[in-house]
Amino acid sequence: MSLLVVGSIALDSVKTPYGEVSEVLGGSAVYFAYAASLFTPVRVVGVVGEDFPQRYIDELAGRGVDISGVLRTAGRTFRWKGRYEQSMNEAETIAVELNVLGEFDGKLPGDFTDSEYVFLANGPPSVQHGVLDQVRSPRLTVADTMNHWITDTRAELARLIGRVDGLVMNDQEIRLYTGEQNLPRAGRKLLEEGPDFVVVKKGEHGSLLVTKDDFFAVPAFPSADVSDPTGAGDSFAGGMMGHLARVGGATAGQLKRALIYGTVVASINVEEFSLSRLASATRDDVEKRYEQFRNMTRF
Ligand code: AMP
Repeated sequence: MSLLVVGSIALDSVKTPYGEVSEVLGGSAVYFAYAASLFTPVRVVGVVGEDFPQRYIDELAGRGVDISGVLRTAGRTFRWKGRYEQSMNEAETIAVELNVLGEFDGKLPGDFTDSEYVFLANGPPSVQHGVLDQVRSPRLTVADTMNHWITDTRAELARLIGRVDGLVMNDQEIRLYTGEQNLPRAGRKLLEEGPDFVVVKKGEHGSLLVTKDDFFAVPAFPSADVSDPTGAGDSFAGGMMGHLARVGGATAGQLKRALIYGTVVASINVEEFSLSRLASATRDDVEKRYEQFRNMTRF
């Protein structure tokens, strides 16, 4: 089934206790696409500037990603600079340069409008709405967001939450949006606004799936090699949506397995900086870790 992601394509500069990189490949759509392409072909829509290395686009295409929705325009590529302290649970944003992303409108190439599985990565709700307006008959639409949109464009975000089937948000974002500290209650509160499910990402504490009549709690994979948590959330979403698009459904059981795939792929991603680890990961690596995870949580 066709899987579409719309989001940022970035040059990231990141510092963690384990090292530092400058102007490397990043962005929510890129982490998502690398992760999801381990499961199924992916369509990416995003924008880069004149300075964005062509080899990064070629590498995406080499993974079977349809890059016909990657627009190159005059100006500089979006840049994000962040830092992680010892706990590595939360990124501190040091600088954001919107550049060409500031003008991005999320216009889909005509042949992407039949996309069935749609992930609206973190971005302005107006752009996320615009994408939903263009897809003709999606089977599953899922959105991410961040604190900035919750505080600055709340009404538009609330309208978006009423339009999508699922949400993937981190614990702080969901608390900020709902004003509710208890995560199961906050998840249920969000469901009252329309979606069928909410996935709460809790960093090293794993994730929680909330549906109208169930909860499903997943621990993080206990990796001993965390170098750079950047993209953990987007690669989680990529693993999750990649699995759902591959199996062509979103039943309760499929969603639960999708959360495990998201967990596994995110744990692989954080082992090296930027996209280095996902670039070398294979489907076999994913399945092996999925099995390890199964054994680790069975008693
Ligand atoms: P994650 O760690 O999964 O939450 O996402 C990290 C990625 O999000 C980085 O590669 C950044 O380039 C990208 N990013 C950071 N801030 C923004 C923003 N305001 N809009 C879009 N993408 C962003």
